[in-house]
Amino acid sequence: MKTSIATVSISGNFEEKLTAIRDAGYDGLEIFEQDFIAHDAGPKEVGRMIRDHGLEIMLFQPFRDFEGLPPERRQKAFDRAERKFDVMQALGTDLVLICSNCAPDSLGGIDRAADDLAALGERSATRGLRIGYEALAWGRHVNDHRDAWEIVRRADHPNVGLILDSFHSLARRIDPDTIRRIPGDKIFFVQLADAPWIEMDLLYWSRHFRNMPGEGDLPVAAFLSAVASTGYDGPISLEIFNDQFRSGNTALVAEDGYRSLIALMDTVRRQEPDLRVDLPVLPDPVAIEGTAFIEFCSRGAEADALETLLKSLGFHRAGEHIAKRLTLWRQGDIRILVNRETEGYAASAYTMHGTSVCDIGIQVADAKDTIERARLLGSAPFHQPLGPSELDIPAIRGLGGSVLHFIDRKSGLAQVWDVEFVESASDGTTANAGLRAVDHIAQTMSYQDMLSWSLFYVALFRMRKAPMLDVIDPDGLIRSQAIEADGDTLRITLNGAETHRTLAGEFLADSFGASVQHIAMTTADIFQTAQRLRELHFAPLPMPTNYYDDLEARLDLDPSILARMRAENILYDRDEGGEFFQLYSPPFSNGMFFEIVERRGSYAGYGAPNAPFRIAAQKRFLRPKGMPRR
Ligand code: MG
Ligand code: MG
Repeated sequence: MKTSIATVSISGNFEEKLTAIRDAGYDGLEIFEQDFIAHDAGPKEVGRMIRDHGLEIMLFQPFRDFEGLPPERRQKAFDRAERKFDVMQALGTDLVLICSNCAPDSLGGIDRAADDLAALGERSATRGLRIGYEALAWGRHVNDHRDAWEIVRRADHPNVGLILDSFHSLARRIDPDTIRRIPGDKIFFVQLADAPWIEMDLLYWSRHFRNMPGEGDLPVAAFLSAVASTGYDGPISLEIFNDQFRSGNTALVAEDGYRSLIALMDTVRRQEPDLRVDLPVLPDPVAIEGTAFIEFCSRGAEADALETLLKSLGFHRAGEHIAKRLTLWRQGDIRILVNRETEGYAASAYTMHGTSVCDIGIQVADAKDTIERARLLGSAPFHQPLGPSELDIPAIRGLGGSVLHFIDRKSGLAQVWDVEFVESASDGTTANAGLRAVDHIAQTMSYQDMLSWSLFYVALFRMRKAPMLDVIDPDGLIRSQAIEADGDTLRITLNGAETHRTLAGEFLADSFGASVQHIAMTTADIFQTAQRLRELHFAPLPMPTNYYDDLEARLDLDPSILARMRAENILYDRDEGGEFFQLYSPPFSNGMFFEIVERRGSYAGYGAPNAPFRIAAQKRFLRPKGMPRR
């Protein structure tokens, strides 16, 4: 199976699209006719230009409203088709997509449609061309791939085949396994698109909300599995109509698409071992064991303030790097690094974003396999010059320029703490507030980038997406989506900001796009932790009394527990599985903060119902009364 993408899927002019498609690694493309018509060179030149980019033209599309026309309009449709055949021959492509008729005056009847396709197939054959028939989900008479297949079967012409499009079948909830009955050599082309489940008009849904396989909710893997089982080995092509992608960064959207295709083909190959793909074998999706470390870049007084905050949270200074100005802070299984280097990656991250998280270390089963899978999915490896006796810990560039390091036990990388760090001289603090592990890492991005980030995590790791939530900021909406590793060994919440007036949006603007906005850590007993924190002079984010009055009115809480929550500024939520307690630090630097959580039972969320009140409290803290909003 070759990889392809329709030109309509990405933004830009024709040349920009070609460059992005080539650079992302596709074998070829579908020419969406509008893109061709808008371009100011003839078909011969366009064909040459595409081949000069090393790309194959897999399909020309769409040819609309052809089959089943009343007699007086039928001849005109054939004439129109001949004109398009001229263009195809000049372009140098042999396959055109004919989508099922939507014209109000078109006539139904499977045999009538089959006759029309057979007649057009005969004409195309004299030119060495082929025609593919696709059922649009909103076709006037044909809107189901099973009917389209019956028409193609009855047309019974070697130059007439079927075109499948995952959106049209899956959006109408047609069982993809019905594809398994179709002979693979009668499927001429396969288009893939995913989409979020939204109840709306099919045409509008398709034209605006399609997204890359894995970014939405449709069972695209089951669809491709069924296709693969037929023996089909033609192109697999992305046909994505999406408002964000049309205005997004051309290269990034093309890369995301390629990543989604490779990850999907890898998934399907595991289910259908006979699938013929020209792909190197990818290592398995990566199992995550936990968060190995979180590294901040900082300087001078800001770094001092961060370390004071860490101390007040019960962290102790555990080690100093042998060669760098890099300090290790520990508590429970949590490792936080503070990097004060003035050269190298952390230094440039500091210059760009100020005090911020510049690096996340993830503990995996096999670091080498992780890098290999990431590379094959299109991520760039990250390298920094190594000092003497430093371990070569594999790393990649995550999204937004961030860095992810991978540590495993297998190749001895987990020894890094013993090899590269010496124990810090005791600073007299032996405090411990009972924090045990990282619960979740919250990354903030612009709303447009969210799909890209979730795809990145889900394609590389054994992680799954939780449903998207709306979080209410007093100044706008934040979209929030959790991505969770199997066994909850790592939880990431992605927060997409649509305006800079929200807390998340302000953070993005002030930090020039830093990603990690907060880190949540677990405790087994939030009340004991709160008491320890008070002794350590930690000042929690103050919550208003209205919040507790409302909790009291809404929930049947033990009055003594409620009183303690009120006294300690602890927030509360519950679901069917259990209870959730939260305690926040005030914001620091450009609006980062720490969160402490206790999960009781199998509470699955992140306290989203509390977010409006927490965000308002943080904004009061950042912008005391009477100060104007920016
Ligand atoms: Mg299509
Ligand atoms: Mg949180």
